Amino acid sequence: MSIAANLTELKNEVERLHVKLIAVSKTKSEEEIMEAYNAGQRVFGENQVQELADKYEHLPKDIEWHLIGHLQTNKVKYIAPFIHLIHSVDSLKLLKEIDKQASKNNRVIDCLLQIYIADEETKFGLGFDEAIELLRSDEFAELKHIRITGVMGIATNTDNEKQIKDEFYELRTFFTGLKHSFFRNQDHFKEVSMGMSSDYKEAIKQGSTMIRVGSTIFGKRGS
Ligand SMILES: *Cc1c(COP(=O)(O)O)cnc(C)c1O
Repeated sequence: MSIAANLTELKNEVERLHVKLIAVSKTKSEEEIMEAYNAGQRVFGENQVQELADKYEHLPKDIEWHLIGHLQTNKVKYIAPFIHLIHSVDSLKLLKEIDKQASKNNRVIDCLLQIYIADEETKFGLGFDEAIELLRSDEFAELKHIRITGVMGIATNTDNEKQIKDEFYELRTFFTGLKHSFFRNQDHFKEVSMGMSSDYKEAIKQGSTMIRVGSTIFGKRGS
């Protein structure tokens, strides 16, 4: 099927469930992205800063860009002028740099705390305790140019459906706990970014509000 057809089918499936679809366009060409754009998609996710900045330059300015991959502190400045949401905040140090660069750009940048839920050492993210410690810290309280709008997680890459379900359930439960402890009456704290091509259906069952889907829309990636 074409990119446009894949996209339309997926949108029909998830948007009636009020789940936001982030089309993950990493490694895909500007032509391929434009095919999705022309089919109505405006929200795209990338995992590399350089690739994201290049695509931002060349593609229509009404695209909402999300960074979903690991972010190094020294690269924040390249995306700070335009990024819509950073899904991958995994340290206070990074958050402080985002705050600094956002301030330089007269912006408030929305961020998700990436929480480590997988049973894989290669995945990034804060542990539950680390996320709580960050939110409790005085340094966090001083940051005025970032806004935490929720959490993100990546489940283990496994065929074990029970394990994936449990990991998503844990993330959703943790989100609810944070909401009660730190973001009471703060309507902006509402996002749970979880689910990719292989597991988005289960993620939605477990309360995802944003799914990050690449290959189901664009086809398999080369590498
Ligand atoms: C690549 C990527 C996705 C999308 O993966 P697909 O399996 O192609 O849907 C989602 N989230 C993150 C963090 C990614 O790096």
